[in-house]
Amino acid sequence: MTNPDVIIVGGGIGGLGAAYALSRRGLAVRVLERAAAFGEVGAGIQLAPNCTRILDDYGLLDEAKNLGVTPEAMIMRDAVDGSELTRLDLRDLERRYGFPYLVIHRSDLHAMLLCACERAGVDLWTSQQVVDYANVTGGARVTLADGRVEKARIVIAADGLHSAARKLLSDDEPVSSAYVAYRGTTPTASGRAAEVDLSEVVVYIGPRCHFVHYGLRGGELLNQVAVFESPKARAGEEDWGTPDELDAAFARACDFVQDGLPDMWRDRWWRMYDRDPIMTWVDGSIALLGDAAHAPLQYIAQGAIMAIEDGWVLGEHVARHLTDDGTVDWPAVLAAYQAVRPEHCRRVVSTSRAWGQLWHLDGLARQQRNVLLRERGTYDYAFVDWLYGPTALHPSDEPPMFTPVPLASAKVDTLIG
Ligand SMILES: Cc1cc2nc3c(=O)[nH]c(=O)nc-3n(C[C@H](O)[C@H](O)[C@H](O)COP(=O)(O)OP(=O)(O)OC[C@H]3O[C@@H](n4cnc5c(N)ncnc54)[C@H](O)[C@@H]3O)c2cc1C
Repeated sequence: MTNPDVIIVGGGIGGLGAAYALSRRGLAVRVLERAAAFGEVGAGIQLAPNCTRILDDYGLLDEAKNLGVTPEAMIMRDAVDGSELTRLDLRDLERRYGFPYLVIHRSDLHAMLLCACERAGVDLWTSQQVVDYANVTGGARVTLADGRVEKARIVIAADGLHSAARKLLSDDEPVSSAYVAYRGTTPTASGRAAEVDLSEVVVYIGPRCHFVHYGLRGGELLNQVAVFESPKARAGEEDWGTPDELDAAFARACDFVQDGLPDMWRDRWWRMYDRDPIMTWVDGSIALLGDAAHAPLQYIAQGAIMAIEDGWVLGEHVARHLTDDGTVDWPAVLAAYQAVRPEHCRRVVSTSRAWGQLWHLDGLARQQRNVLLRERGTYDYAFVDWLYGPTALHPSDEPPMFTPVPLASAKVDTLIG
């Protein structure tokens, strides 16, 4: 391959998803990843029907199901008293949206996308740090740390939360939430993990903290995540989110949650940042994708999903905008991408922030929230239709994504101010 049609900067879930979406349309795609090897750190990831629908279209859903777990219920509990607040019946959810809710190890998802890219002939380069982006006549170029220059008709920057390409479009910086996530995976063969019901995804929500668990790898592993607000971050200290803060943050939590804390990895943690929404993602022949465009807090578990949707939308519009001579009408493709994706992702980023506030309430507001959540019927999908419904391709597509469904209800909006 000399100059490819598309260069993708970043070989995370977003970059690889886009590489596959475009290469299956017959385009020559090169991925430039700065790390010495392709890979993912972290543990589990949740994939809702708006993502499994795309994996099915890619012919990857059965593989993903074999690698992960397809749970039967998602349950929200109060982290202090352990009581159930509300639930989703994931079998009914699958009937409603046509595709399953899946949980999978993120390294398995990443490896699956990497293999799909290899099979599709994507040119996958590691140890390639991009330091500069520019539009040039007939396309765009990137400059690498060693001074080399690579050119393509289109450059897609999937370079994550700290995206260098985003500076072309915005001078904003990542926004600290002062929350930190601890993760851990534990074999389910014995001990406490053997007792946990892996047919459920459970989130315990509590004052300034929450705790999530679900199974991975066909039930071989229990995945647990403990998230809390760091007092040191709030005090402006540099050294925040350390393990001493973890145990203190869950002091009021119920026994089940406290018993899970020793399973957390204590040698690494994830400080949680998002980005303010920006509504322009395209600069000439350079487009942002994934966290580079719309890094969210993870409370509605849509960050990687949005990245996969971005790539799928690009691929669909490539197929729809082929000219008579077989070339791609890229201005039309990027205009369609720009028209449809930023508004949906703005809503996800904003809803994630609001959802986090709701989860972490204390005192009277916590009790009022619990009353409201218990009022919700199990089969009321007003919360999630806009999210799990079909991925929009045009602003004029039938709405699920654009219908102004309230976050929960006017009463909940009042609670979180
Ligand atoms: C605790 C937690 C739980 C989460 N749970 C979920 C969930 O359940 N469901 C969900 O959908 N999402 C979830 N997310 C969010 C999800 O992990 C991210 O949104 C997603 O991984 C972003 O993918 P990306 O490819 O856009 O970015 P990244 O994964 O950050 O990938 C960016 C890539 O670009 C490379 N790169 C960066 N700069 C350069 C450069 N200059 N040159 C070359 N390469 C470069 C990096 O090395 C990296 O490989 C969660 C996040 C957290 C923190």
